[in-house]
Amino acid sequence: MKVLRLVSDVREFRIASATASLGFVPTMGALHEGHASLIERAVRDHDLAVVSIFVNPTQFGPHEDFAAYPRDESADIAACERLGAAMVFAPAALEMYPPGDATRVQPGAIAERLEGAARPGHFTGVATILTKLFSIVRPDAAYFGQKDFQQLRVVQTMSRDLRLGVRVVGCPIVRDPDGLAMSSRNRYLSTVDRRAALALSRGLFRARELWEGGAREPDPLRNAVVRYTDGTGVSLEYVSAADPLTLEELVRPAERAVVSLAARVGKTRLIDNVLLGIRLEEIA
Ligand code: AMP
Repeated sequence: MKVLRLVSDVREFRIASATASLGFVPTMGALHEGHASLIERAVRDHDLAVVSIFVNPTQFGPHEDFAAYPRDESADIAACERLGAAMVFAPAALEMYPPGDATRVQPGAIAERLEGAARPGHFTGVATILTKLFSIVRPDAAYFGQKDFQQLRVVQTMSRDLRLGVRVVGCPIVRDPDGLAMSSRNRYLSTVDRRAALALSRGLFRARELWEGGAREPDPLRNAVVRYTDGTGVSLEYVSAADPLTLEELVRPAERAVVSLAARVGKTRLIDNVLLGIRLEEIA
């Protein structure tokens, strides 16, 4: 497995493998089984799988955890090799944002709600780095987790709108056995916080049960999450029941929905969601 740090080396790698199909998994490192599931899928679907490891400064707000974000590059590289990746691209910040860098990719309305509202500028940072990475790596397909569901929709929309020619594939959320969605940020949770955080997935699973029982009004779906997290030490930032394609908030009964949430558990910010009435494979 190659580990490349320079854009020029990745371009050469891609020219040398021009006829191979390439699956790409962009990550911020601190890899866990959620990332591994994306890498396995890319390895399975393509001649070559490429993983990028880059903690992208432009997608963090000024008061967010960029400096404290977990970094463990040697373990990440070993994991990529074990999973069968052909190449890891791990550039320095200056390689992706050289002096004078000023161009930004501005996504549309789909990026303004939910995470976009809670984290101004976040999706501009995401869209900008992914446009750069897609143009450098030139993948046929890129693999994203449903865990960051709005990100998946923003990137699918961007790839379509900008005619990037990259198929953006969603992969299911990988959870710990007790239900907590895996996240690089989970390693910040104390034992007490870790237990409290379980209320999030439990609330979402309760919303799914209600859906399976025939509930189609958005309010009971949102309320299920609120009720499960009440008094648990988890502080909800938002709970949403939205259309899974546009992410517009539902105001009446619907035949498909994504119930999503953001919450603070101690100092850690977590997100999670469930998809109702539509399968991930139908979202493209
Ligand atoms: P990150 O390193 O947090 O930027 O995540 C890189 C990719 O891994 C994104 O597409 C995430 O949605 C995905 N991912 C993160 N956590 C999970 C998970 N628990 N299950 C599936 N995919 C995940």
